[in-house]
Amino acid sequence: MINIENKVNCTSCSACVNICPKNAIVMEEDKEGFKYPRIIEEKCIKCGMCSKVCPMLEKYSNKEKYTQKPKVIAAWTKEEKIRLDSTSGGVFTELAKEILDNNGYICGAIYDKDWTVKHILTNKIEDLPQIRSSKYLQSNINLVYREIKEKLDSNYKVLVCGSPCQIQGLNKFLEKEYDNLITCDFICRGMNSPKMFTKYIHSLEEKYHSKAVKVKFKNKKYGWHNFATKIDFENGKKYIQNRYCDSYMIGYLNYNAFMRPSCYECKFKDFPKTADITLGDFWGIENIDPSLDNNQGTSIILLNSKKGEELFEHIKDKVSFKEIKSSKVFDENVCAKRSPRMTEQRKGVFENIDKLSYNELSKKYFPTPTPYIRMRIYIREKIRNIKRRMKQ
Ligand SMILES: Cc1cc2nc3c(=O)[nH]c(=O)nc-3n(C[C@H](O)[C@H](O)[C@H](O)COP(=O)(O)OP(=O)(O)OC[C@H]3O[C@@H](n4cnc5c(N)ncnc54)[C@H](O)[C@@H]3O)c2cc1C
Repeated sequence: MINIENKVNCTSCSACVNICPKNAIVMEEDKEGFKYPRIIEEKCIKCGMCSKVCPMLEKYSNKEKYTQKPKVIAAWTKEEKIRLDSTSGGVFTELAKEILDNNGYICGAIYDKDWTVKHILTNKIEDLPQIRSSKYLQSNINLVYREIKEKLDSNYKVLVCGSPCQIQGLNKFLEKEYDNLITCDFICRGMNSPKMFTKYIHSLEEKYHSKAVKVKFKNKKYGWHNFATKIDFENGKKYIQNRYCDSYMIGYLNYNAFMRPSCYECKFKDFPKTADITLGDFWGIENIDPSLDNNQGTSIILLNSKKGEELFEHIKDKVSFKEIKSSKVFDENVCAKRSPRMTEQRKGVFENIDKLSYNELSKKYFPTPTPYIRMRIYIREKIRNIKRRMKQ
């Protein structure tokens, strides 16, 4: 039976919860706000299925299907509105539309009412805007792998998008290859604590005296490279700050301050990937081919399998794209190959998460820059933008 003695050894993929024939495993939140499986002893029949499906104990691998050297493509959707509403180039939405148009199902992450994140499976196009966009905190899988299996067994096409560890968990849970399943993961920096995210939202709700009604990471009002976080409030007020001024992004990107323990030693960064398609931000594309970066978002697409290539063929006329043969594709995307570094700040945050308010934690462990530094950053960004435009 699974026994998580060291938290580094669990990604919360929930394959164990989904496979358990007796529903004897529940996910429980720890002090840091991350979920881990707990076995209900009275229900457990010690069949060992939970250990068998755990991708941390044995990885899913089908080397014949997935290539060591994926085709690399830079792309964005031709639909400007969707591109602006997406985190990178909006390629995920085009893949999803293709599946939905063919009577299939899509599975992805949405915000819940309490600003936690969960995966849902749907065949409704109206759900797509909620699934679109990165939510920079860990999503709950709940029992969605079981729902996916049911649809696959009924011969529906299903597109599933999740973190590499979630796709590993799904593949291990399913046990066999399904021709009608297509998986998509993304280059992943790591999953933040839902508890920290809730504290962040509540701190802003207090400041704005209103409930948050919409959260958008990587809002593109000031450009994709600006990494702005935008939050709309019920009273009509809006919060928008770039990556150098928004404390949550500073904590995530500059201090690695509140990620899941397993993310600091991620086991799923290697090739071959086990998703058919891997998506990401094509950071550094301006150095490879400046004409492919107009600061509105360019996706990197890795086609890891024949199935991935085939699906891309079907959306080719919906996206602007170019195959990239450069060896520098990951040079500016540090998380494509390496895990983020564990930091002292992370230890500080979680030792004090229940003692200090969000603003106190931020001030102490992941401070926002002074107005003088902000001004310098602002000028530097302006100059970068001008240079980017001149290169085009
Ligand atoms: C936590 C996280 C960290 C990331 N780190 C990097 C990075 O370091 N480098 C990089 O190049 N790209 C990273 N990405 C990927 C990037 O942000 C985009 O999601 C990706 O490029 C696809 O963009 P898109 O415009 O095609 O589609 P989008 O519409 O932006 O993609 C959304 C897809 O991502 C899924 N998704 C969103 N949030 C979550 C979540 N919390 N858990 C699981 N699935 C989720 C949705 O279900 C949807 O299928 C990260 C994404 C996430 C969620």
